[in-house]
Amino acid sequence: MGSVEKNAPLYTSAEGCPYADATTAQRFSDGSPVKGLMLLQDTQLIETLAHFSRERIPERVVHARAVGAWGEFEVTHDISHLTSARFLTGIGKKSKTLCRISTVGPGAGSADTIRAVRGWALKIFTEEGNQDFVFNSIPVFFVRDPIKFPSLNRSHKRHPATNLNDATTLWDFHVHNQEGIHALMLLFSERGTPKTARHTNGYSGHTYKLTKPDGTFHYAKFHFKSNQGNETLTNDEAVRLAGEDPDNHTADLYNAIEAGNFPSWTLYIQVMTPEQAETYRWNVFDMTKVWPHADFPLQPVGKLTFNKNPNNYFADVEQAAFSPSTMVPGLAPSADPILQARMFAYPDAARYRLGVNYQQLPCNRALAPVYCPYQRDGLATVNGNYGGDPNYVRSGLKPVISFTVPSSSSSGNHFAAQNANLKHNAWVLGSVDDYTSEVTEEDFAQARMFWEKVLGRQDGLQERFVGNVAVHLKRAKPVVWEDTFDMFTRVAPELGEAIRRAVVPQGQKA
Ligand code: NDP
Repeated sequence: MGSVEKNAPLYTSAEGCPYADATTAQRFSDGSPVKGLMLLQDTQLIETLAHFSRERIPERVVHARAVGAWGEFEVTHDISHLTSARFLTGIGKKSKTLCRISTVGPGAGSADTIRAVRGWALKIFTEEGNQDFVFNSIPVFFVRDPIKFPSLNRSHKRHPATNLNDATTLWDFHVHNQEGIHALMLLFSERGTPKTARHTNGYSGHTYKLTKPDGTFHYAKFHFKSNQGNETLTNDEAVRLAGEDPDNHTADLYNAIEAGNFPSWTLYIQVMTPEQAETYRWNVFDMTKVWPHADFPLQPVGKLTFNKNPNNYFADVEQAAFSPSTMVPGLAPSADPILQARMFAYPDAARYRLGVNYQQLPCNRALAPVYCPYQRDGLATVNGNYGGDPNYVRSGLKPVISFTVPSSSSSGNHFAAQNANLKHNAWVLGSVDDYTSEVTEEDFAQARMFWEKVLGRQDGLQERFVGNVAVHLKRAKPVVWEDTFDMFTRVAPELGEAIRRAVVPQGQKA
């Protein structure tokens, strides 16, 4: 037997059988310290080695690198005239939350400060079930046709032959899918290199519906704005930190929470009536467009605070699964095609990554009573599996209610009730008919607003934007340069020209 540390705990097998020592291996031996064959009966050694090689689960194909924290959402402004969702109504109402902020393309071990949109996923544990928001740190997205979603992400990741991050594939994708220009402008602005996760905003991007049990609804976009300010890094600072301190954002958030310096965000909504949507300049289901603040002002709703670090990163954050389809009564999806597609893709990714019962994991488990006895069995069922209750719908037998069944007083979702608005339904059905959208000059209008109004507002922002694009584009093969200059020229002629001058050496043709 090896030596046992004083105060060492009594280790056991995963089945609870005690081990005298956690470091021994059983072997045949004549007493020699250096020879002797190991034994197959040594369950402690075999289990230890076997578990180690299985301790990784599939890495998220996107959003692998993340920070996370527990927290609380509190209503500061009542919006019960817009929605019945209980977590959004009643000043002072508080709900527990879990948030996960991630980069998109880079793998789990990559640097925190890499230029990327940040995923901004939030789970709100409400008495009506979980509400997940799977937002981004920029208010728009790169595509509006869901079938392009995997292609977009691959073009931002590693090349299939070289396994290198490849600037050529990124620009090649975007010059041929120019509806993404607005999101590209934000990615290559300093919003693409936030100072820390605490300084990022979270935007729904998608248009949602806020609903009432009588079937009335408003369209809404959500904005979580950082109360720490929206501070950013320059490209040079981000590159330096990626080398010197690659876990910079992870450490920053963890240490802030440990020190009791709890970061917070203010939730705002923009609200639009169905009638306004019908005549608005931009298609409200197009995720490449914002609703300008002047047209639809931000209205405060509540405050989100991170106040507790994960007890264990893998258990609380890696196993967390967020989906736009997880929605409480009072919210509903709009006809945004990317939202509709994500409502399938995210739970599907969770089933692959964590198994069919991922909702039963402690970090995902609803605080509200769950009763869906027609969804049972499957890998890692840990909820008791509804005992002997009927496992099919419309049973006439009395359930053996061994579980807490939710009260039927909840209004349930109001999706069907919304059918009451027949005129608007006809408009929606008539407008979402083309799954391969065309790129038009309208796609450049908001990118131009960003260039002129936002980046033009403060000295140095436009110059640094040009520099950020140029440094990336120079790493791409020249074959994509000319199309990229043309794409930025459609935003503003001086922008295309400035990027050309920064990329092409003087006197040389692209
Ligand atoms: P405003 O002119 O009223 O305000 C511009 C918004 O841009 C700000 O509120 C801020 O959003 C964001 N912003 C400010 N500085 C920067 C920066 N350096 N880099 C990136 N974003 C910045 O906005 P409009 O609504 O009239 O829209 C103008 C343009 O602003 C849009 O085309 C869009 O690109 C951008 N924008 C618009 C948002 C919207 O929802 N309307 C949200 C974010 C950006 P925030 O306060 O959310 O940080």
